Amino acid sequence: MEKTFIMIKPDGVRRGLMGEIIGRIERKGFRITKAILMKPNKELAEDHYIEHKEKPFFNELIEYIQAGEVMAMEVVGENVIEIMRLMIGHRDPKVASPGTIRGDFAHSLTENIIHGSDSPESAERELSLWFR
Ligand code: ATP
Ligand code: MG
Repeated sequence: MEKTFIMIKPDGVRRGLMGEIIGRIERKGFRITKAILMKPNKELAEDHYIEHKEKPFFNELIEYIQAGEVMAMEVVGENVIEIMRLMIGHRDPKVASPGTIRGDFAHSLTENIIHGSDSPESAERELSLWFR
């Protein structure tokens, strides 16, 4: 069984979307095997988004992800990495399809509710970072 790292970002928690998102994950047939509600510090936020270190939006991204509590989760299931990315939807709100989490609830490029690992390597790295 494959594992992925899913995080409900501060805007998702603040807007009361945890139940909606957890419900979608469970109704899809995936299992949430770890979960923690916490406010990430700067070091964890920067480690998580290290691949974007040189991007012009990096500082804004790090500030946003520390702006409140996030819900970090380990989610398990067959092909869960790719399927969760589909359920999350495109990061550009003008492209995210209705029916996806971002397509249904986000209209901002930075504040987009949820993160999901994009490959087996990212999933392993992110799970060991958040659940060490
Ligand atoms: P995530 O990694 O959070 O799941 P993603 O894989 O869909 O999102 P990435 O390209 O990895 O998208 O971007 C990481 C995050 O950085 C995005 O989710 C968004 O919050 C922010 N971001 C990406 N591009 C921009 C941009 N051009 N301007 C502002 N913020 C951005
Ligand atoms: Mg990404």
